[in-house]
Amino acid sequence: MWSKPQQTCPLSHEEIVQRQKLANFLDTASEDDFTEKAIVPLFQRLGFHRVSPSGHTEKTLEFGKDLWMKYQLPTSHWIYFCAQVKKDKIDASGTGGNSNVATVLTQARMAIDHPIFDPEANRKVLLDHLFLISAGEITQAARMWLVEQLDAGQRRHIIFMDRDEFLDRLRTGGPSSLRQFMKCPKCSQEMERRFHKPSETAYLLKPYYFSEWDYCKACRHVQHYENYKVYNKDRSLTSAAAT
Ligand SMILES: [Zn+2]
Repeated sequence: MWSKPQQTCPLSHEEIVQRQKLANFLDTASEDDFTEKAIVPLFQRLGFHRVSPSGHTEKTLEFGKDLWMKYQLPTSHWIYFCAQVKKDKIDASGTGGNSNVATVLTQARMAIDHPIFDPEANRKVLLDHLFLISAGEITQAARMWLVEQLDAGQRRHIIFMDRDEFLDRLRTGGPSSLRQFMKCPKCSQEMERRFHKPSETAYLLKPYYFSEWDYCKACRHVQHYENYKVYNKDRSLTSAAAT
């Protein structure tokens, strides 16, 4: 899924400019900006659902997860992903207690071991894969060191994604601009991405629902997308929510 795309045809002038813009952004953005303006829109466009960044205060409670999201299989089952986001290069120099690769390892172990709560399924779930994402480079030495520290069971969860892979995404569904938020089709204001609140359950009783949608604060227009339509096939969940 994340293998490098084939670079067969050369980049167009527009793509080179776009790539340079994104590179400049990666150099200067804060970790929160990198997450919210680049990673969240990218994963949304790739078809992941409920791409939810943890706020500042939640981060410590989220056990090393800066972001979680889910992806629906053709069988209607969900698989769960977390992302750990680093602004800086991840390298293996000085793998002592306070080097950044050691921090990444500690957080990766925590993320793998601690379940996340999916309000739509109303239960805790273990994650299937963990993206380790850096706005800089993740050196080969760092990747090898991390993989060596993890046991076989933990190792299979990890997917690395660094600057080069991120820039390559431009050609295969990546963000074509840094602001991917929808403009309202009625009044052209920027729309806000909305999710169901954890306390809501009524939508689980309907034949289908939208896991996320855009809302225009200016004119109250609600925009749904077919891509985020979810069928309530699990009847046991539906009846549990009814009681
Ligand atoms: Zn509007």
